[in-house]
Amino acid sequence: MVKQAQKKEVSRIPRKSDDVSEWYTQVCLQAQLADYAPVRGCIVMRPYGYAIWSLIQAEFDRRFAATGHQNAYFPLLIPESLFMREAKHVEGFTPEVAWVTEGGDEKLSERLAIRPTSEVMFGMMYAKWIQSHRDLPVLINQWANVMRWEKSTRPFLRTLEFLWQEGHTAHATREEAAAEVQQMLGIYREVAEDVLGLPVISGRKSDNEKFAGAIATYAIEALMPDGKALQAGTSHELGQNFAKAYDITFTDADEQVKHVWTTSWGVSWRILGGLIMAHGDDNGLVLPPSVAPHQVVIVPILRKGGEEVLPAARRLRDDLSAVCRVHLDDRTEQSAPWKFNEWELRGVPLRIELGMRDIEAGTVMLARRDTLTKSPMRREDAVTQVPQLLAQLQTGLFEKARADRDERTSTASDKDAFVSQLKAQRGFVLAPWCERPECELAIKAETSAVTRVITGAAAPGETCAFCGLPAKVRAYFARSY
Ligand SMILES: [Zn+2]
Repeated sequence: MVKQAQKKEVSRIPRKSDDVSEWYTQVCLQAQLADYAPVRGCIVMRPYGYAIWSLIQAEFDRRFAATGHQNAYFPLLIPESLFMREAKHVEGFTPEVAWVTEGGDEKLSERLAIRPTSEVMFGMMYAKWIQSHRDLPVLINQWANVMRWEKSTRPFLRTLEFLWQEGHTAHATREEAAAEVQQMLGIYREVAEDVLGLPVISGRKSDNEKFAGAIATYAIEALMPDGKALQAGTSHELGQNFAKAYDITFTDADEQVKHVWTTSWGVSWRILGGLIMAHGDDNGLVLPPSVAPHQVVIVPILRKGGEEVLPAARRLRDDLSAVCRVHLDDRTEQSAPWKFNEWELRGVPLRIELGMRDIEAGTVMLARRDTLTKSPMRREDAVTQVPQLLAQLQTGLFEKARADRDERTSTASDKDAFVSQLKAQRGFVLAPWCERPECELAIKAETSAVTRVITGAAAPGETCAFCGLPAKVRAYFARSY
């Protein structure tokens, strides 16, 4: 009876092409990545989701360390008076800030903001720590939770409280800060594409879309199956805005006291949402091997008279554990077909089935999650072939996603084509643009789409695809999450 109930559970995912939104929610819940919490818009990240997130974190951390960054932890609460110093930052974030007004049975004399981001706290401390040009650059990252009081929410993609990393750096010159911003954008792109298999476009954000308090924001953007863009990471040049608001100065080699140039950059667990959305199929999650907690799962076919199967499966697990993350599913209360469904739902890249007949033939049965195909493999080849297959699967997922993204990216040079393509919401529309904020607002009003990133200058003589005025840049447009 238990098995029946669980089987039903598995089949409750709608087809991805029928209802991407409901499909996404059900995959998050049923693959046990997340569950809803008692407070609206908050989720619990369950152990399987957290294991994936930890692997993503490790990929970022390795690259942050290799480029000279250190991890630290700053506090959650920011005094209101401190928060209010950088005008644009305040204007941008205040509508989403949650406040602590009481502690114990006392009403606080000053409200405390629950950090929506930590430029303020880092700025405050950097003012204290930085004195001389010899103290620069300061390159610190933190892994933390932040809170933004959002109206509509979805697991990972938009939640009130979320996990992320935020890097905050201070530099002696604008050039150095600008180079840092590009370096981190490059790392984001590399992790998105090479690790998560998510093809991204990258570039500068328009004035309307940039970070509150930044002089320039750069972003990576992935395209989701419903034709909406997902901002998957941002890197900001903050100029001297925060340095002036928080009085972060240093004495330069020429004895002059100067303000530092700061940057900040962040990626949240939203990128995990992007991963689920991009690669999953009607059977559930499909994980790229690089972030799969179990890259291979071994399912022994346990039948009467098959006493040799389990020991053989254990030996296979031990051999494979030298070359990949392997899990032996030796539970006896579930049937093998039930386990096949479950591991498919949970996105494990490779499944190896091992029964008495396989042992006699010196083979194992190998099932690929990406293609849902099964083929026998010689047992003695497993240790050499499995890593090759995982590598193939990894690049295959990226190639497929990139082909899909390219197929759903179009160009437009006149208003009719531009508006109809955006209204169809198939994907990115690349178009020449005048770069006027009011033009972007008019585009949004008519099509619900905005610029995602600006990729470069327009050609001489090109006109804005929407308003017809001279174009300054080329930009990608799409609706977004
Ligand atoms: Zn225009």
